[in-house]
Amino acid sequence: MLLAMKLKLSWKLVWVGVCAVLFVIVFFFFQGVRNPSWQGLTMGTSYSITIADRPRSAELRAIQSAVESRLEEVNAQMSTWDPDSEISGFNRFKACDAFSVSPEFAAVVQRAVEIASAMDGAFDPTVKPLVDHWGFGPDADPEPVAELLKAVGWKKVRVENNALLKTNPDVQLDLAAIAKGYGVDAVADVIASSGFTNFLVEIGGEIRVSGLNREKHSWRIGVENPQPDGDIFQTLELSSGGMATSGDYRNFRVRTDGTRYSHIIDPATGMPAETDVASVSVISSACMDADAVATGLFVMGAKKSFQWLETHPEFEAFFILHSTNQTFTVRATPGFPEQQ
Ligand code: ADP
Ligand code: MG
Repeated sequence: MLLAMKLKLSWKLVWVGVCAVLFVIVFFFFQGVRNPSWQGLTMGTSYSITIADRPRSAELRAIQSAVESRLEEVNAQMSTWDPDSEISGFNRFKACDAFSVSPEFAAVVQRAVEIASAMDGAFDPTVKPLVDHWGFGPDADPEPVAELLKAVGWKKVRVENNALLKTNPDVQLDLAAIAKGYGVDAVADVIASSGFTNFLVEIGGEIRVSGLNREKHSWRIGVENPQPDGDIFQTLELSSGGMATSGDYRNFRVRTDGTRYSHIIDPATGMPAETDVASVSVISSACMDADAVATGLFVMGAKKSFQWLETHPEFEAFFILHSTNQTFTVRATPGFPEQQ
């Protein structure tokens, strides 16, 4: 009798235990993962993503794998470092006939040509031979700059019905100054189409935000210090759109006389751009546009840039300018978000 009661009690305990475990599993399943944040590698740099929401674990895994596939797709279209990419195929294609490409790749080249035209060629997607010549590209190009300039110029490439055409068989594309921004927008689209509205996407310093952060405030974004210690120079708040930065402080080479030259080339001269700009951060609704424009403004220098920005109010910009004795001054367009 006593044994039967004991058995009944322990069965009850087992049931309570099972129910408790099931409750915890169901609770966490519906609760989801709070503010997930993750990092990875892409386009020769790193990326990071934060979603300030609570996706369910399975949903989060689906978003993570969709992001990975999307980034692989963009690389397979636009990386000059991948010999099998669409862009490498086009660059090897030494003819002026139509070269078919994917609609996304065609759209990015089309936008690159539009921005090149608006910036009078300061940003130019045909700089690849010069980028190689100065040692920043995947191939070596020892030909003299004057010779290479014959195949450089945004008017030498056009897009027609998902095909690219060159006017000179030696024309080659380099989309490094716009593809990271495009990748950021593409990842943002993946996350937004999963129904999330509060997130931050960053690839190699190019950023796109939506909604609010985990503290329910606008996202706080840092502008890097162009000095070698590389801490944060300024922070600002952003609640939507993209921001991209171009600078001379991260990717550069040192000449034998100790002077530095950066990876941004002035397509007008074929030489590395040397202006008063140490870094320029551009805000625009699309990160792709901000990315390309930041590169173009770097080439233009501050004076021309501010003239250009007056007639292009869809962009706001923040400049860190070289001043005397390795110091910097800052200048921004009036609509650039207030610095904290
Ligand atoms: P980062 O890659 O550091 O974000 P940018 O967005 O300014 O910097 O892109 C610079 C890269 O773009 C260079 O490494 C080169 O491949 C290419 N590039 C250099 N000069 C130009 C230019 N004037 N217009 C377009 N692309 C350029
Ligand atoms: Mg750029």
